[in-house]
Amino acid sequence: MPDLGAIVHEIAAEMRNHPEKGTVADYIPALATVPADRFGIAVVMADGTCHMAGDAQEAFSIQSISKVFALTMALGAVGDALWQRVGREPSGSAFNSIVQLESEHGIPRNPFINAGAIVVSDILLGRYEPREAIGEMLRFVRALAGDDSIVVDEEVARGEQETGYRNMALANYMRAFGNIHHPVEKVLGLYFHQCALAMNCRQLAMAGRYLMARGRNPDTGRSVVSPQRARRINALMLTCGHYDGSGEFAFRTGLPGKSGVGGGILAIAPGVASIAVWSPGLNARGNSLAGTLALERLVQHTGWSVFEPG
Ligand code: GLN
Repeated sequence: MPDLGAIVHEIAAEMRNHPEKGTVADYIPALATVPADRFGIAVVMADGTCHMAGDAQEAFSIQSISKVFALTMALGAVGDALWQRVGREPSGSAFNSIVQLESEHGIPRNPFINAGAIVVSDILLGRYEPREAIGEMLRFVRALAGDDSIVVDEEVARGEQETGYRNMALANYMRAFGNIHHPVEKVLGLYFHQCALAMNCRQLAMAGRYLMARGRNPDTGRSVVSPQRARRINALMLTCGHYDGSGEFAFRTGLPGKSGVGGGILAIAPGVASIAVWSPGLNARGNSLAGTLALERLVQHTGWSVFEPG
């Protein structure tokens, strides 16, 4: 087994000095002011060992990474009936694109683009009142991470609300097709709050452990989802977790991963490790530039690609 402690430190050092930083999201002030030179990595192994380097304990906005947790909760609430309202195909389009919704009658391509996550929020509102829903999500993520200090960043949530015209358009458009059942403001209230979850790399890697561990929370030994559901969520992360950059991410890392516009990526090496990286500078597709490169390096060192014969 390679010396992971040394590897994560080497990767953090390389990323700190990397000349290309990408572009920090600037649609809301709370994200625009995050320094571009931040880099963090946390690797939590199946045996519970955690290796960290860089700014791994600094909280950031997890943004679209929350779509993984929301999907997991919604599948728990309604089971596979969810797939009648959300597809399972990569979109090949930007994360906030509306174009495919017309020809596909308001059914979003997958749960990891904005339109899909907004339908997932609507599904959760069939089970919980809006305020209760965000509380449940917070409780869920805290339990997965084994950390009660995780919070929603209200400033980010407010910024999302104030600037979320495209998301409002997506929700209204899908409502016109009958694929949103609750008032659009309530659905988006939940969506914006889940995007505003603030976590650090360590907390995020801890929260992703159930996807590495056949659906079980290693702390409690209890099942979060069935092994089959964990496999399927990982498959969707691999094929759809980086929007129109999903093919490129899979090509470079060979790992299921979910990115967020805050610069975080959660990646899973099934049976082996749950990994979180964070670097706020984004590439042209809205995925962390140094974060992707860091995961590529990690896989080069460890051979953790799911396509690497064991
Ligand atoms: N809050 C962002 C949005 O809804 C999340 C998108 C992302 O992380 N790519 O536009």
